Amino acid sequence: MMSKEASEASAKQFIAFVNKAPSPYHVVNECRIKLLNAGFQELKERDHWDIKATEKYFVTRNQSTIVAFAVGGQYQPGNGFSMVGAHTDSPCLKVKPSSKKCKAGYLAVATECYGGGIWHTWFDRDLTVAGRILVKNDDKVTHHLIHVEKPILRVPNIAIHLYRKHNEAFGPNKESELVPILATCVQDELEKPTVVQGGDEDKTSSQSAKHHPALMNLICKQLSVQPDQILDFELCLADTQPATLGGAFDEFIFSPRLDNQVNCFSSLQGLIESSKDKDSLKNEPNIRMVLLFDNEEVGSESAQGAASSLSEWIMRRLCAGTNPVAFEEAVSKSYLVSADQAHAVHPNYSDKHEENHKVGLHKGPVLKFNGNQRYATTAVTAAILRQIADKVNVPLQDVVVRNDSPCGSTIGPILSAKLGLRTVDIGGPQLSMHSIREMCCTTGIQQLNILYKGFFEHFPAVDASTCID
Ligand SMILES: [Zn+2]
Repeated sequence: MMSKEASEASAKQFIAFVNKAPSPYHVVNECRIKLLNAGFQELKERDHWDIKATEKYFVTRNQSTIVAFAVGGQYQPGNGFSMVGAHTDSPCLKVKPSSKKCKAGYLAVATECYGGGIWHTWFDRDLTVAGRILVKNDDKVTHHLIHVEKPILRVPNIAIHLYRKHNEAFGPNKESELVPILATCVQDELEKPTVVQGGDEDKTSSQSAKHHPALMNLICKQLSVQPDQILDFELCLADTQPATLGGAFDEFIFSPRLDNQVNCFSSLQGLIESSKDKDSLKNEPNIRMVLLFDNEEVGSESAQGAASSLSEWIMRRLCAGTNPVAFEEAVSKSYLVSADQAHAVHPNYSDKHEENHKVGLHKGPVLKFNGNQRYATTAVTAAILRQIADKVNVPLQDVVVRNDSPCGSTIGPILSAKLGLRTVDIGGPQLSMHSIREMCCTTGIQQLNILYKGFFEHFPAVDASTCID
């Protein structure tokens, strides 16, 4: 069914997406561009919404969370929501509010550990910064994305000659040993007259006093602003090595942030492809929705996270009308695919995986089960997705962790508990999750694209035949 060319084409589209998205703000921006190109209209949370059947919309919060939806031609308040949810954030180092450090003749940049990264993988990588900057122009503050597209930072390993236990017990101290260097003090002195723009170093409260001018200068140069115009910023560190196809047969994707940009990309692709023109939405009774949240990697408890009221409020706005219980009726007809990457069996650690649930690359998206509700899948929600996968010819795999193994979690249990929403947890199989560089397969992207498109197209009919209260 799936030609190698087709999988490779989808994989290349994903690679282009992930390479342009080194921070959650960039993920949201890439999604915005795709949505605008596909005829979606941008809404603002603070405005009144006038929603029309067969029209397509999106809204952002904090520029790091985005919700896009297409309204069915037959939609009425009280009808269901067909939803796919994923997350825009990935574990990374973030520049601290005051980052200026000098260590043994080096300019270093203090960083904070965001999420549960495999931090030793950040050593000896050619790093840069990416994120967002708030710039003051006269009396107006504007939001800008920044991505310095060259290697400017590095966390060097300690040589094995000086640390013999490297291969047995390397566990860096996250405060003192995971600090990237930006320059030598010697070079910084030499460059000083030319690098400092504006020369406004007296204002100790300004951002330029809290960070090395060498770093601020790179940022200011790119945005063509003066250092004292910068009110604040949030900067993620990112690897400059671009994602690529790999393996002897180009069947792999070697890439940062597969968790969870694969599902951001594929769910959006599914929504866009399933709602291409008015005809494709003509007979649709539901609202087809993609929700991409920030802060999943740190527990989702933020205004832009899945634990916020954002999803409920958006659903309520779309249920507004003369029926006062339209929202409650809609929830029971709705269904969420909680889309987050899954662990494929690791060839060198295969005993870490449950004997009957060793999922493989190329073998299809993975349904995640956990009796202790770390995942929200039930027999009912799995049965619904199995029928849809069958209709679109995408194989599915099942996974459960060993009883003696820790288990991850997702936005699935959070949203399903909060809204009382039928939810299934799934994701594409991958290796090296939370490493600075992860690995998955080309067919994984294509299979998810097809599955999410199929979900939006087939859910209302499958739901009607699988009504279990
Ligand atoms: Zn994830």
